[in-house]
Amino acid sequence: MVSDDVRLFDVVEVTGQQDLPAGSFVSWLRDTRRALATQHGADVPCGECNACCRSSYFIHITPEETEALAHIPKDLLFAAPGRPEGNVIMGFDEEGCCPMLIDDKCSIYEHRPLTCRNYDCRIFPAAGISAGDEDKDLITQHLSRWKFDYSDEHGSMQHSAVQAAAKFLREHAGSFAGEVPSNATQLAILAIRVHQVFLNFDDDGTGFVPSIAEIVTAVKAAWEAGDKPDASVGCHQ
Ligand code: SF4
Ligand code: SF4
Repeated sequence: MVSDDVRLFDVVEVTGQQDLPAGSFVSWLRDTRRALATQHGADVPCGECNACCRSSYFIHITPEETEALAHIPKDLLFAAPGRPEGNVIMGFDEEGCCPMLIDDKCSIYEHRPLTCRNYDCRIFPAAGISAGDEDKDLITQHLSRWKFDYSDEHGSMQHSAVQAAAKFLREHAGSFAGEVPSNATQLAILAIRVHQVFLNFDDDGTGFVPSIAEIVTAVKAAWEAGDKPDASVGCHQ
């Protein structure tokens, strides 16, 4: 089941904070899908924001990330549950802050884990959901500032398709044998990966309205084609 904590995106006006240009939705979606496939990190114009470093995330680090591991004190790292030996996680303090966040800045920025490099909170407004439960409210409160540009052809259609995918997955989680993630990050990533199913239905133009069972089948086919979520991808867990 999808957690009740994965709420529809609450639009919150943050007094005194300005809109942030999120870029062309078409370009962002293309780059995000590529980043998810290649794990080459996301280019997020975060400015002074560090909300995701203060939001009670466990940071997964693989044994191959020798640079990151060399810059994090060993006593902050713990074996990652359910992962092969050598995989570790870094936790957070009683206020939800990453221990490497010092004076409001990442003290190992040049050497930060891939998990941090991959994190892009624009996936949540893209999918139309909050960043998670209450310990992610710092991020959710900031999401309404992102403004996508829809001047590229099909931009608004693509965004609607990602949001439709997230909504469908939430509402019909029971049709997927427990495979729909309960984690907001993974749900948003899955919606991005299978959104084309919903784009195709929207694009049909013949008046054909697919049944729920047909949509479930199409989404499962997208998963079988390699679009299944990888729990190791995409950011803080
Ligand atoms: S919450 Fe979003 S904008 Fe803020 S630091 Fe994290 S990725 Fe950047
Ligand atoms: S390692 Fe740096 S970027 Fe990653 S969560 Fe901690 S402070 Fe933030």
